[in-house]
Amino acid sequence: MFPKPVYLRCALLLCGVSILSACDRKASEPLVIEGKTMGTFYRVSLAGVDKNRENALRAQIEAQLADDDHQLSTYKDDSVLSRFNQYQGNVPQPVSAGMADAVVTSIRIGRLTGGAMDITVGPLVNLWGFGPDKQPVKTPTPEQIAAARQRIGLQHLKVIQQSDGQYLQKDLPGMYVDLSTVGEGYATDHLARLIEGNGISNYLVSVGGAVVSRGHNAQGKPWQVAIQKPTDKETAVQAIVDLQGMGISTSGSYRNYYELDGKRLSHIIDPATGAPITHKLVSATVIAPTALEADGWDTGLMVLGTHKALALAEKQHLAVYLITKEGDTFKTYMSPQFKAYLKDPE
Ligand code: FAD
Repeated sequence: MFPKPVYLRCALLLCGVSILSACDRKASEPLVIEGKTMGTFYRVSLAGVDKNRENALRAQIEAQLADDDHQLSTYKDDSVLSRFNQYQGNVPQPVSAGMADAVVTSIRIGRLTGGAMDITVGPLVNLWGFGPDKQPVKTPTPEQIAAARQRIGLQHLKVIQQSDGQYLQKDLPGMYVDLSTVGEGYATDHLARLIEGNGISNYLVSVGGAVVSRGHNAQGKPWQVAIQKPTDKETAVQAIVDLQGMGISTSGSYRNYYELDGKRLSHIIDPATGAPITHKLVSATVIAPTALEADGWDTGLMVLGTHKALALAEKQHLAVYLITKEGDTFKTYMSPQFKAYLKDPE
């Protein structure tokens, strides 16, 4: 579930100079509340907040994350999403406003990526062993892939807004929606709203690989986030960005993978081929107004590959940072919009 934009506690993790000056000044540290959620980790860094608020904030944070998990998880059979996936009819099923919003955003981005990002791709994700099911012991057959592909397609999924609430409707009985690509971004934005609801305006929040920040860090400086080098051999920084109040998310194909029949298979599935991507793009980072949008775009760009991703970024004016791996060499590509966030432009 890596790469994660590795964020810095008040920019203290990187450059030797800022670490020395901060320690000499005995700079105040942010209040950090962290824990496990959704098969990954969450972390909330709050500048200027008293330690005695920690327990009350932690209780609210973990209750909200548990509810998000109950809505969006495909890893819990009794979640709202799992019950929708198990339902074989086409009567609209009630969902929360937050889940409806996550699905509407996913369908919008899915269409803009030409179906490369497709939250109905769940049958293929599970067939290749990247969902709650076990990994296959041999490569799925063309017949199995074709059968799974019969059950996917954004055109078969609808969000219905009614006066008494919002509903999801499918016209494909075997449809299996997988919100893993946007769940972290959704939960990150949702946590940010909770923090602001507690009257806190200087924070950095992350769930898995999605991050959002507001205001400044404990040293009164902009929160900075580091994008990791796309390798599972070490944790190294590829670039540092100043989020300027935006959301960021990275999708990668070099951490969540396994080897089968001599091939390395990543968890990013191309709905057009029904199989994991095989091109050289290994990491896509997107900065967007919300972590949900950034999280939705990053997977779609990973599926499209470098050149189509850059063309789409240009068309949609997206702030995008891509890393390809050719042999042992990493090459980076970025859209003009991304440059404005880079701390030390390359
Ligand atoms: P991203 O790159 O953001 O998304 C990749 C994921 O999206 C893939 O893993 C796949 O599920 C899906 N996907 C693949 N191809 C496409 C495509 N073309 N279009 C759309 N989606 C695609 N993991 C656990 O191990 N245990 C848990 O209990 C667990 N609970 C979860 C609960 C929730 C609510 C959510 C949202 C996820 C949960 N997960 C769990 C999954 C895990 O947290 C990550 O979401 C997952 O591994 C992907 O995170 P990522 O950011 O690395 O991937």
